[in-house]
Amino acid sequence: MQNYNPEEAIQKAVREFGEHGGVAPSISRSSTFTVMDPRVMPEIFQGVRGPDKGGCYLYSRHFNPTVSVLARYLAAMEGTEYALCTASGMAAISCTLLQLCEHADHIISSDTIYGGTHALLEEMLPSMGITTTFVDVTDIRAVEKAIRPETRVIYAESIGNPTLKISDIPVLSRLAHEHHLTLVVDNTFSPIMITPAKLGADVVIHSLTKFINGASDAIAGVICCEKEFAYQLMDVHTGRLMLLGPTMDPRTAFDIIQRLPHLAIRIKAHGARALAIANRLEELGAPVTYPGLSSHPQHGLLKSMVNRGFGFGGMLTIDCGSRGCAEKLLDYLQNIERFGLIAVSLGYFDTLMSHSGSSTSSEITAEDQRRMGLSPGLVRMSIGFTGSLKNRLAQIERAVKKLGLTV
Ligand code: PLP
Repeated sequence: MQNYNPEEAIQKAVREFGEHGGVAPSISRSSTFTVMDPRVMPEIFQGVRGPDKGGCYLYSRHFNPTVSVLARYLAAMEGTEYALCTASGMAAISCTLLQLCEHADHIISSDTIYGGTHALLEEMLPSMGITTTFVDVTDIRAVEKAIRPETRVIYAESIGNPTLKISDIPVLSRLAHEHHLTLVVDNTFSPIMITPAKLGADVVIHSLTKFINGASDAIAGVICCEKEFAYQLMDVHTGRLMLLGPTMDPRTAFDIIQRLPHLAIRIKAHGARALAIANRLEELGAPVTYPGLSSHPQHGLLKSMVNRGFGFGGMLTIDCGSRGCAEKLLDYLQNIERFGLIAVSLGYFDTLMSHSGSSTSSEITAEDQRRMGLSPGLVRMSIGFTGSLKNRLAQIERAVKKLGLTV
């Protein structure tokens, strides 16, 4: 286990007070800002000055004071020099990859990733001349074999969506750096729990839409990285964030700032509930996968990477064998037991459940789903922390027994 404490790191970040000393920061909604000295304006455009480079704010697609407060807290949490917030997780992923890769470049990606990212890599980026080889990143020799002279990036999720395969970030980082590649890690499933930059990742991405916001009422993302890369993303000539423009609204930034202080508490609560439910399912002989169980094939690896004291995450899966059985389980759990909600996304305080193959991984062909180990009956659950644990355990037990998923 790692001794890094992201909760403490957020606490140590420079505290931003609101106007008049407000305990909550103010929301700065201006789209444009007054430059007091006209000589400074050209220097901001040249990238010589910025709000934290002896200049000032210019325009909110570039930098915004409230959005920058959230970015500073998230950089502290992820232990990176800098961070830039975006309008969505996909904006963070696409802008990062488009900044790192040009026409004729190549990416090596984990084969078990969010369906939207898979579609970006497999179906959209090739039209721009950027190709991807998908590999099982748990097989480091396969990753190494896929490296070509034109490879620029290794891309992985800390905990893969939806199979819950774990990426060995220190090993991937060593390989990436030996070959002068950038390791980009999507840490959406494991904020606070895993700190990829401390394990060697160069760029860390989150869909803030999920655990970090935690209320399922905002779409947002972040890129945590070195300051130099952030300024490349915001360059007025070639910056993918500056020019494609997926900017975060300051009101969204404010909402997420207000939820960040209880992220660690929520992550612990999600993890404790998920572990209790996974344990009960395992006792019943139900086909559960949870990285916090010692039966998970990569439990030891995950244990070596997690920050001590935050648990093993809120995500688990149940393999029902077929889509029909998965749909019956979802229907029963939502409409009879009121255990959770049939909805995509994750990180909500209530349990969210979906059949991955026909929803958030439906962009991936059936053949590729099979290759990456995504079973046709896989139900993914983001375990919430509402209701009593006793009731939740009884509800899930009745459901798996009803569906004949126990031994
Ligand atoms: N990364 C992961 C692991 C996801 O699960 C998702 C969405 O489900 C995304 C990225 C995309 O995030 P957003 O919906 O905020 O664009």
